[in-house]
Amino acid sequence: MNLSIKYKVAVPIVMLAIMLIFIGWLAICAQQRIVNINTKLTERFHEIEEVHGIDVAAGKLLQLHLGFINTRNQVYKEATQSELSRMDELVKELARMASTNSKERSLLQALLPHMREINILSGNIFASIPADYQDSVRLLNDMATHHLAPMSALLLEWHTDEVGEVDELNRQSEIQLHEFLQSLILLLVISIFLLVFAAWLNNTVLIKPLLAISRSTAGLAAGDLKQKIHIYSNDEIGSMACSINAMAESLDKLYAELRTIANTDQLSGMLNRHSLESVMAYELSRLKRAATSMAVVLLDIDHFKRINDTYGHTVGDQVIRMVAGICARTLRQSDYSFRYGGEEFLLLLGATGVEHPQMAIDRLRDEIVRASLSVDGKEIRVTASFGIACYPSDGEDQASLIQCADEALYAAKQNGRNCSVAYHTLKRPKLDNREMPSDCDSEAAPPL
Ligand code: GH3
Ligand code: MG
Ligand code: MG
Repeated sequence: MNLSIKYKVAVPIVMLAIMLIFIGWLAICAQQRIVNINTKLTERFHEIEEVHGIDVAAGKLLQLHLGFINTRNQVYKEATQSELSRMDELVKELARMASTNSKERSLLQALLPHMREINILSGNIFASIPADYQDSVRLLNDMATHHLAPMSALLLEWHTDEVGEVDELNRQSEIQLHEFLQSLILLLVISIFLLVFAAWLNNTVLIKPLLAISRSTAGLAAGDLKQKIHIYSNDEIGSMACSINAMAESLDKLYAELRTIANTDQLSGMLNRHSLESVMAYELSRLKRAATSMAVVLLDIDHFKRINDTYGHTVGDQVIRMVAGICARTLRQSDYSFRYGGEEFLLLLGATGVEHPQMAIDRLRDEIVRASLSVDGKEIRVTASFGIACYPSDGEDQASLIQCADEALYAAKQNGRNCSVAYHTLKRPKLDNREMPSDCDSEAAPPL
């Protein structure tokens, strides 16, 4: 999916934020519902208190009236009136609270006539002073039997209903709390999943790729241009990885071209002297491990100055190119040829015994003698002299091997040119003509 990195990172965070908002909303709703239930519960408890208060007052009424009838003490009258007015207050309060409940309204309707009758009967009892005792008792009995007892029954019914309602509200409150906890746990689990998903996504699309890029760019900075960043996402990091890979590839190509240019002699196309040191060091270390031999050969074109002097430098350059071409054709693929100086070449002939370089050099010398360059209808021919040093018999390091080859080349020049001299033949105390390599031709001006 071609999705920008900012969306990949933002989407789980936004989802998490939505989840948190949802949890907050759920908590507010649950709190609202529980507050409503609590308000209702408080009302129910108040009603229970009112009902209980009326019941207690009604119970006192009987004793107060009886006390008055027996003692005719005015204190009972006052106490009774106070209880009656308190009952009135409580009934009014109940009427206000019962306005929403039909059953309570009907209970109240049934209660009010009894209250009125109690008030009337109470008034009659107190008005009967100093009336007949029997008459007062009859009135009190009437009040207790026909009004206080039914009223108490109504209040009991009311009380029982209220207790039922309180139980129901408690049950609802528990259900609400349970549902809230269930939803909260569900949302928390989803949030944890989202958090884990966000962390995974962050790690996959951001942290890991950035670490891979950081490792690769550090490798590139250290010069390892071959490495690739393996990120295949279609986002900005993926395209950055592609660009870095492409950049490393072009740098690698450019570097290879530069290396080739730096190591190649422009005139002859051979390896140049700059590359000699590293190639030879590598070859010598390889030969040490393989325990094989190698010949280091210095080739110098004979009387080259005369060619320059006679035909000019351009023709001299052509001759250098011709000899370089002969070296490339004649030597094996595994051998190396370097342009060592002006008209001097250095050859590395690998895995050769003491006798073998001689054969290879003879063939090369022969090819040079037979080659010609046609300039203005004239055939230009050259010869070359060779100095040969062998690893490891003549030397084991670069400097000493080149030094030996140079001494051998000098001997070849001294010996008449167009020949090759092996250094090991120079080491004998007395060097006479028989001991010199037999392939030296007599000194003669090269056939120009
Ligand atoms: P010898 O047989 O003793 O080697 O004699 P020589 O003339 O070959 O050697 P000498 O060192 O006297 O001359 C080498 C000449 O090669 C001198 C220099 O001008 C010429 N030379 C060096 N580099 C180049 C080059 O790149 N192109 C051309 N055309 N000439 C070069
Ligand atoms: Mg020379
Ligand atoms: Mg020369």
